[in-house]
Amino acid sequence: MMKRIKGMNVLSAELLDFIEDIMYSISCELQRIGRKVVFIELKYCPFIAEVSPYMEAIGLNEEGEIILDTSFADTTEKSLRATIADLEIDAFGLLNLLELLKSVEGKNGVLASILSPVNNECIVHEQQDRDAWTCVCGNTPCSGGFYSCDADGDLIEPGEEWDCLYRCDRCGRVIDDRDLKVIGINLNPNQEEAWP
Ligand SMILES: [Zn+2]
Repeated sequence: MMKRIKGMNVLSAELLDFIEDIMYSISCELQRIGRKVVFIELKYCPFIAEVSPYMEAIGLNEEGEIILDTSFADTTEKSLRATIADLEIDAFGLLNLLELLKSVEGKNGVLASILSPVNNECIVHEQQDRDAWTCVCGNTPCSGGFYSCDADGDLIEPGEEWDCLYRCDRCGRVIDDRDLKVIGINLNPNQEEAWP
């Protein structure tokens, strides 16, 4: 396989895309939760050690911006964007923040989209027809069906980013079409939304 060398412009565009994607995912979790989350509710605070003690809570303001309540001497609020710019949280910290927020139950008990890994499980198909799947739960293409999804079990159109994964609509198992292995279960998948 050819290894492509990426330059500054390509890499910085990819990094900015990642930041925008994760900011959107974090704001969607905060929308799902529907209130401010206090950091002491979470297992830990994902900001760097120097500022963690000053981070009190995270939520959305009226403009939908992600805002932190802080106890710094000079300010009581800071946007998540500003903390990234000030190197108070890095890319892995942002991923951890997303994971921590996914563990918080939403308003009306709405749970986050989470893929729980599964090992050593395969689905079967009819002997004559490789596409006639029967899931571990008994679901078939004619009953509940299977829908294209990504590596988190979130439902996506089978386009460029799709990697041959399907989610069982009955039990949430995520199945790799290439070897019929179950990679995990997602009971509350996100649905791809059309952008306005
Ligand atoms: Zn199933």
